Amino acid sequence: MGGFFAAALKTDCLFDLFFGTDYHSHLGTRRAGMAVYGENGFDRSIHNIENSPFRTKFDSEMKEMKGNLGIGCISDYEPQPLIVRSHHGTYAITTVGKINNTDQLAERIVGSGTHFLEMSGGTINATELVAALINQRDNLIEGIRYAQEEIRGSMTILVLTPAGIYAARDRLGRTPVIIGRKKDEGFCASFEAFAYQNLGYSTERELGPGEIVILTPEGVTTLVAPGKEMKICTFLWVYYGYPSSFYEGVSVEEMRYRCGASIAGRDGFTKEDADITAGVPDSGTAHAIGYANASGIPFSRPFIKYTPTWPRSFMPTIQEKRNLIARMKLLPVHELIDGKRILLIDDSIVRGTQLRETTEFLYQSGAREVHVRPACPPILFGCKYINFSRSTSEMELIARRVILKEEGENVERDVLEDYANPDADRYHRMLDAIREQLGFTSLSYNRLDDMLDAVGIGREKLCTWCWDGRE
Ligand code: SF4
Repeated sequence: MGGFFAAALKTDCLFDLFFGTDYHSHLGTRRAGMAVYGENGFDRSIHNIENSPFRTKFDSEMKEMKGNLGIGCISDYEPQPLIVRSHHGTYAITTVGKINNTDQLAERIVGSGTHFLEMSGGTINATELVAALINQRDNLIEGIRYAQEEIRGSMTILVLTPAGIYAARDRLGRTPVIIGRKKDEGFCASFEAFAYQNLGYSTERELGPGEIVILTPEGVTTLVAPGKEMKICTFLWVYYGYPSSFYEGVSVEEMRYRCGASIAGRDGFTKEDADITAGVPDSGTAHAIGYANASGIPFSRPFIKYTPTWPRSFMPTIQEKRNLIARMKLLPVHELIDGKRILLIDDSIVRGTQLRETTEFLYQSGAREVHVRPACPPILFGCKYINFSRSTSEMELIARRVILKEEGENVERDVLEDYANPDADRYHRMLDAIREQLGFTSLSYNRLDDMLDAVGIGREKLCTWCWDGRE
């Protein structure tokens, strides 16, 4: 994934840009960058943040960079923002999205006489490709629209120019852009709404799908009106959005409570069936609170993350100890586990490896039963729209591995649809196989209809590809 923050202020924007960007650190683990424009022109800095947090890496830039217009990003992939000199003038650009037709687009552009620098591994910097597409048109607005139309996948873009900051939400609004206003000082554009709240901004509005605006210290002007169709990523609420955020006016934390409550409602478990409700930190916790409140089975924290020195971005370099190190940040509270029947909620099951290890860890710590309740349905399809960290090659998904074993390769579409249908026999056989493989006492997933109701903005506006393979 990735996240971004932009500020257009009457005064220097570095303080806001620094903290606003830092507040997106949960969305990416590899690189971060800031670009500003001010009296001295453009300035830009990029650092690797794999083993050190954004604030540490950019501390000196906060004091040295100057400008009243700025964009910043946290990126899981390419280094950005990039500074581009073009017939549009010089601009800085940062993007969040995924390009599935990189080769075709790059060939077309190389054919027109432009070249690309290769990144390590022979890949092209996706943001550079977006800039090259933008440069194919006569003006920036046409260029941004052209890039978004040509890209298969999704693309949300910030472009910093001397005249202001262009913010363009992806055509189908898979990822959000929210505008904040700082009294008489200016405006910001942010992936996460909470990122600006402590900086003195209030929410102005959310951009619609495909909408393009320009931010200046004086105002926010729509240049391209929003489209009607939307397919925002449902996983924003279920897993990777920050609890204090909202998208399309729907709070992440509240949605998770509703998800937990709907699982509890279908389950019918009471204090007779389980002793405690617990969530896998971090995102499982809110779903578990919803379950506990609805079922009456007390919420408790049988294992706790050691957060002070274990940032989410920590990537162990000792390969053979990776699994052990990943577990070391979880500390058991034995008194809450020993002899207990635990109702355990996680946001989702992807490969199943982590949840199997967590369950083993609970058994080793004395748990009698572990009943697992993922907050979303079985994931059957890899994400093709955004660079989503929970997505993986389809055949690594535990649900697909089980289907492969049952059905062999080249499974027909209607068979897959059966596996996505919670009322079908195939679905229940798949659940039994997963439960057995991962060692759970019982397993029951949230249903797609319940999860979409928990968001509550209308099924047609939500992307559900991961679960039902529908566009
Ligand atoms: S496929 Fe899944 S992860 Fe990707 S945008 Fe859709 S809901 Fe989000």
